Amino acid sequence: MRARDLAKYIYHYSGMERCMFWFLRNSRRPLLLTIVYHRVCPSMDSYEYMGVPADVFESHMRFIKDNFEVVTMTDGLSLLSDKGRRGVYVSINLDDGYMDNYTHAFPIIKKYGLSATIFLTTDLIGKDHLFWWDEVFQIIRRYGKNRTGDILKDAYKANRINSFLMDKKESEIRNHVDRLKDRYQISKDMTPHRMLGWKEINEMAGSGLDFGSHTKTHRNLCLMGDNEMQKELMDSRLELQGKLGPEQIGFCYPFGKHDDRVRGILRDAGFDYARTCIKGSNSRDTDRFSLRSIDASFLLNKTLFSSSVSFYSLGR
Ligand SMILES: [Zn+2]
Repeated sequence: MRARDLAKYIYHYSGMERCMFWFLRNSRRPLLLTIVYHRVCPSMDSYEYMGVPADVFESHMRFIKDNFEVVTMTDGLSLLSDKGRRGVYVSINLDDGYMDNYTHAFPIIKKYGLSATIFLTTDLIGKDHLFWWDEVFQIIRRYGKNRTGDILKDAYKANRINSFLMDKKESEIRNHVDRLKDRYQISKDMTPHRMLGWKEINEMAGSGLDFGSHTKTHRNLCLMGDNEMQKELMDSRLELQGKLGPEQIGFCYPFGKHDDRVRGILRDAGFDYARTCIKGSNSRDTDRFSLRSIDASFLLNKTLFSSSVSFYSLGR
């Protein structure tokens, strides 16, 4: 067990988690917790990188429904500025726009009468695509010399490589991934993944799910020039507004990467808010372009999940 996970079990069984939830529920000001997923897979046997098996996702949704009021990002942010509100609201986020958000997450979200916000990579809508981080995982999982046979350990290993690559330019990432393939003598292409199409997006929007932008191409904005970034942001916003019609569109930074320059250009591009990967909860004082979140991608049981939600809610 990882030391970080052990600490979460101690936090859970010591009763500190329950005290924190009590404290949060009695907070004088409303709080918005944003809980982030990427993929939901049918089971652990068909695990995909950063995916949560459907039965685990369902246990998370049950926990959230039993303890909090669930809102979309747009509704949650307007609740924060309502002076008469208190308590804790949760927004469920799904990033990147994989088809399994529709096939495996949406039925569970509907079953519990919840809502969610999906951040779409707009150039990939309706396509088969392999993100480079999924390619790294497939290489490690299927061909890595030191692969462990434990799929989660392989995922952590891919995670370390991917965290290093996130700060590199696309051409450097491609070279690195190709070198990895050469090292393991992999000549064939890896399997791409199906991304959400407009048919599924429209059906989910009709059931009350909310959609935001995750750029056109999911590249690190901090590495882009101003003009290129403006186009990446504006085109994505206009496509979503053209197809779905909302006046306000929210945003989620690819890899959570942002700085003062990125935030400034994003504000000027007409977005309503932006979510980061900084751990924590949001109050009405949180900068709308630096919203905190809690990533649930590796919280694959209920104890790890509830202790993380409670613990990271402290950060504001
Ligand atoms: Zn992403």
